[in-house]
Amino acid sequence: MNCKLCTQKAIIDSPSYCKKHFLKYVEQTAKQTIKKYDLLKRSDKVCVAVSGGKDSITLLYILKQLKYDVEALAIDEGIKNYRDETLAFLKRFCKKHKIKLIIKSFEKEVGKRLDKIVKTGNPACTICGTFRRSLLNKYTKNYDKIATGHNLDDEAQAVLMNLLKAQKSLYDRQGPKTGKRKGFTQKIKPLYFLKEKEIMIYSILMNFDVPFTECPYAKDSFRAYVRDELNLLETQKPGTKKNILLKYLKNKSAEKNKLELSFCPLCGEPCAEEICNSCRIRKTLGLIA
Ligand code: SF4
Ligand SMILES: [Zn+2]
Ligand SMILES: [Zn+2]
Repeated sequence: MNCKLCTQKAIIDSPSYCKKHFLKYVEQTAKQTIKKYDLLKRSDKVCVAVSGGKDSITLLYILKQLKYDVEALAIDEGIKNYRDETLAFLKRFCKKHKIKLIIKSFEKEVGKRLDKIVKTGNPACTICGTFRRSLLNKYTKNYDKIATGHNLDDEAQAVLMNLLKAQKSLYDRQGPKTGKRKGFTQKIKPLYFLKEKEIMIYSILMNFDVPFTECPYAKDSFRAYVRDELNLLETQKPGTKKNILLKYLKNKSAEKNKLELSFCPLCGEPCAEEICNSCRIRKTLGLIA
């Protein structure tokens, strides 16, 4: 099959593009999402939340190429045989592309590595996600936006996960950008309409040399279950994931912040209850008094 824009052989079908036009398609899709959903202003200082995986690296690279003022923030959760390798790669990548990289660790910031917390029978992803979100917000106060590498697959999964768990307030907060809320740095997702497979191919064609190691705790997560079911649906009915997002965005009610937020007396971060989730977990784990 040939590329739909030139006479070269296509390297991917649906959409069928040659290498040159495929790379352009990925970059243009991100650019159009930024424009259509008003994700960035030229004057914005952007912090890209990087894991060292294909998605965040592709996002960091594209934003840098588009000449946005970007820096990168990585969280070292303390996951043996996974995070060490991705952090080493991130340091090399950021040095090569002259991007400032900031690294914050669970060990230093919350008092324990994730591996040690999980050993005592605690759910890895819930704890990891709570601490990570809290640290991302805490260390991005001097930026206008946090950009994350969430792709079309991630976002379709998130819509379903929140539906299945009946998490209405989280469900309403999906989409290419979060609303502006006091105490929170606004989050944007320029790769929202790109499939995971497309980003994977882009990162390979660009020779990013991203380590394709997966977090050892990922397979046990609820997300992994939803991902597998959704992949099955997509195989049977191609376009399912994109349709979920398009319908979601069409019906999305305006983000209402009915939740009264205050600020955690222990760490100063925004919270809906007496103390924030991160401090509540740290207390339960005996990491703070
Ligand atoms: S899979 Fe779970 S434990 Fe691993 S990095 Fe993601 S949220 Fe953290
Ligand atoms: Zn072409
Ligand atoms: Zn707190």
